[in-house]
Amino acid sequence: MKVNLEQVNKTFPKGKNDSLHVLQDIDLKIEAGEFVSLLGPSGCGKSTILNLIAGLDHPTSGDVYVNGQKVKGPGTDRVVVFQQGGLFPWMNVLDNVTYGLLLKNMSKKEAQEKAMEGLRMVHLGNFTKSFPHELSGGMKQRVAIARSLVMDPDVLLMDEPFAALDEQTRIILHQELQEIWEKTGKTILFITHNIREALTLSERVLLMSTRPGAIKNSFTVQASRPRDPSDSVLVQLEKRVMSELE
Ligand code: ADP
Ligand code: MG
Repeated sequence: MKVNLEQVNKTFPKGKNDSLHVLQDIDLKIEAGEFVSLLGPSGCGKSTILNLIAGLDHPTSGDVYVNGQKVKGPGTDRVVVFQQGGLFPWMNVLDNVTYGLLLKNMSKKEAQEKAMEGLRMVHLGNFTKSFPHELSGGMKQRVAIARSLVMDPDVLLMDEPFAALDEQTRIILHQELQEIWEKTGKTILFITHNIREALTLSERVLLMSTRPGAIKNSFTVQASRPRDPSDSVLVQLEKRVMSELE
């Protein structure tokens, strides 16, 4: 098992004597190579779960394991792609992608070769010298994905990475992400509040309810690939998810 949360609770202090119980008894298992979406309305605790897996925050109680190891802080076996890709604006595309590799003590030559491989995978092999401000939103997210992939993480954590993009760009990036997943076999946890996005992208969808934050249901998506949004399986599932979210 790649990722395992056991009876995880998370409480944030709120005001002087109050607290917010964001996650309640979360049990979550992700197998190696799975592409799982975590779907739920804004504020239900999705990012909180991702941050716990990333080691950016700690549970109030319960345990988080990645590769059987208890998560105690950030690690290179897990990388996050955020909604705003977080590229360094003063570095060109190639330098943004090699940055993390150089921190791992890789030689410059080897890092650049690896970065080129990653950039070609997201179809940006010809944009190495461009700076982030010269790129569209979709291209910036592609660089962010390449930068994560070259670190060769066990788990790719994606927190609404396409939420700020227009519909057309999002559809293209969905296809690219599926190709990447098929090529690399990475374990992916994809967070979204968009039902359609969760159903078209992943194999399994975990549905979170609003409050108290808990995983309410889990759907396995068995639709043809590449997924056509008008696929009757998806349309049926979408209706079910919508009724569960009410
Ligand atoms: P989602 O990603 O599903 O939109 P979050 O996990 O970001 O939701 O947040 C869940 C709830 O926890 C929200 O009500 C949010 O305001 C609250 N929250 C998140 N992080 C903190 C924090 N560091 N301190 C206090 N409250 C927080
Ligand atoms: Mg969030």
